[in-house]
Amino acid sequence: MYAFKYHRAKSVAGASGAVAKNPDAKLLAGGQSLVAAMKLRLAHPEELVDLGAIKELAGIKVTANTVTIGAMTRHAEVAASAEVKKAIPALASLVESIGDRQVRNMGTLGGSIANNDPAADYPAGLVGLAATVNTNKRKIGADDFFTGMYETVLEPGEVITSVAFPVPKRAAYMKFKNPASRFAIVGVFVADTGSGVRVAVTGAAPVVFRVAEMEKALAAKFAPESVASIKVSADGLNSDLHAKADYRAHLITVMARRAVESALHTR
Ligand SMILES: Cc1cc2nc3c(=O)[nH]c(=O)nc-3n(C[C@H](O)[C@H](O)[C@H](O)COP(=O)(O)OP(=O)(O)OC[C@H]3O[C@@H](n4cnc5c(N)ncnc54)[C@H](O)[C@@H]3O)c2cc1C
Repeated sequence: MYAFKYHRAKSVAGASGAVAKNPDAKLLAGGQSLVAAMKLRLAHPEELVDLGAIKELAGIKVTANTVTIGAMTRHAEVAASAEVKKAIPALASLVESIGDRQVRNMGTLGGSIANNDPAADYPAGLVGLAATVNTNKRKIGADDFFTGMYETVLEPGEVITSVAFPVPKRAAYMKFKNPASRFAIVGVFVADTGSGVRVAVTGAAPVVFRVAEMEKALAAKFAPESVASIKVSADGLNSDLHAKADYRAHLITVMARRAVESALHTR
């Protein structure tokens, strides 16, 4: 590690102003990605602006139609929330599957989606549920938020404040995980929203994506057999020591089928 300035922000406006005025400053949430990147010298911010003391960024609000989670809400709190489990059990179970206890106790929703690791779980939940990302400047639909590997539409000085997840009719998330990190080799979130079906895939490609053919088939009949023979092309999928592209393509169909089965049994 090397020397850097540390600033504990007291408000969202203060945090936003501090990173806007210094291009070498970074927001700090739970440090689960950022501090690790700094230790490896992959990131070397001159200043860290800690969001941890801004109370309004943490917490969960549930209404009949929406679950709103503050950006600084730790994964452990979302996974344990009785209200989230009741409203969107698929979301609670997705968050429960993230990393290990230490990671879930420190990692946050805002940090996860701002970082946009291609194997992260939350992006599938956001896109699958057609969530809205609220920042200090605007509202962004999940379909428009994730733009590439570790890239989002966030601008300098823009702070994620919360994410609003519409409550679906039924949904489920299935992940084939890396046994060491528990990141998704392939994760598929399927949601029957009441006004359509959404299928979002993480881990398989540089950025989360939807599978239109599966969505169409499931809208016609929400059943595992509707997706069982739909094959996703391996072109452009990730290929690494954990899984080759054609294996990931195969896993998308398997995880989608299992997610539909699970959604039928949950709600
Ligand atoms: C061992 C290990 C295993 C893991 N396994 C999984 C897994 O299975 N699945 C999974 O999905 N994830 C996994 N993670 C990632 C983890 O879930 C964290 O959410 C993720 O690392 C982000 O960490 P953080 O919330 O502490 O954010 P930080 O590391 O503090 O920040 C990450 C980035 O987000 C920016 N940022 C933070 N908050 C905001 C905000 N409110 N607005 C704008 N920008 C912001 C920061 O500037 C930084 O660039 C794992 C991590 C580790 C270390």
